[in-house]
Amino acid sequence: MTVNDISAKHSLALAQRQSDALLNRCSYKGRFAPSPTGPLHFGSLITAVASYCDAKAHNGQWIVRIEDTDIPRIYPNSEQHILQCLEAFEFESDVEIIYQRQRLDIYESVIEQLQHKKLVYACECTRKMLGSNHIYAGTCREKHLDFQDQAIRVKVDDQLICFEDRLQGQHCSNLQHDLGDFVLKRRDGIINYQLAVVVDDYLQGMTHVVRGADLLDNTERQIWLGQCLSYPPLEYMHLPLAMNEQGQKLSKQNLAQAIDPQHAPELLLQAITALGQAPVDLDQPNQMLAQASAQWDISRIPKGTEIPAIYK
Ligand code: GLU
Repeated sequence: MTVNDISAKHSLALAQRQSDALLNRCSYKGRFAPSPTGPLHFGSLITAVASYCDAKAHNGQWIVRIEDTDIPRIYPNSEQHILQCLEAFEFESDVEIIYQRQRLDIYESVIEQLQHKKLVYACECTRKMLGSNHIYAGTCREKHLDFQDQAIRVKVDDQLICFEDRLQGQHCSNLQHDLGDFVLKRRDGIINYQLAVVVDDYLQGMTHVVRGADLLDNTERQIWLGQCLSYPPLEYMHLPLAMNEQGQKLSKQNLAQAIDPQHAPELLLQAITALGQAPVDLDQPNQMLAQASAQWDISRIPKGTEIPAIYK
C-alpha cells in the first residue's frame, strides 16, 4: 500500500498506530464507544464501568470514542448528555475523545483499499427488492456496478468464524449462511458501524473489547473485516444486558430512562453491584472506580446474557 492509496488523515493515523506499537506503549487498550442515538441509560453505565475496571485492572488504557456515523439517527442533545455523565462519573479517557463523524475520509480510504483487493462491490438492491429475506444472496456480486451512489458490500466466505468470548464462551457464525455479503456503506453515503468500529479499533491500537451482549452477533462480521484488512485479532468480552421490569433489555428503543448525573455515586454503586462485584464505599466517583478496579473479578459477573431488573 502506498501513501497515494490512502487519505492524508488515514496515513497519519496509521503512523501514530505504528509508533505506538514500536514503543509498545500498552499491552491492554480498551474503549467505551457510545453512539449518541439516545441519552446514556443504566445499561450503558454498566458497559462503561466494566470496560473501565477491566482496563485499569490490567494496568491498561481506557479510551472514549463517540460513534456518530449514523447521522440521521443522532438524537438531539444525547452527545452532550454522554459527555456530561462521563464528567459527573469522573470517567477520564486516557487519550483525547475521537468522533467518528470527523473521520469519514479515513473509512472511505479503507473502502478503497478493500476495492483494490476486490473484496467489496457496489449493490443496487433496494430494501424493497430484498424484501423480508435477511440473508443477502449476492445478487450484485458479478454486476460490476459503479461505486457512485450505490451501497457497498463486502464479500464473505463459506467458512465458520469462531471466537472465544471471555464471558460467553465460544461463539461461531458462517457469515455466508447466516447473513451474506454485508453493507459497509449505505446508498445514502452513511458509513456502517461495522466498518467504522473495526477501523478505529485498529487505528487506536485497541487490544480488548468489552461491550453489551447485544453486539455478540456482530462480532464475527467484525473479525471477518479485520481479517480482510490484515488487522491483528482482539479479545472480546460481552456483558450480560440489564433488563427492565417487563423483561426487555434496557435500550434507547425501549425508552430506557436517562441516567441522572446528579446521582453519580449511587448509580455507580448499583452498576458495580449489577456486575456482581464486591461492594465499594460510597465516595467520590473516581475513588469508587479505583476501588472497583482494584477488586475487579470477572468470575463474579452474572453468567448468561441477562441481568434481571434492578433499575427502570
Ligand atoms: N457504538 C455502539 C453502541 O453504542 C457500541 C460499539 C462497540 O462497543 O463495539 O451500541
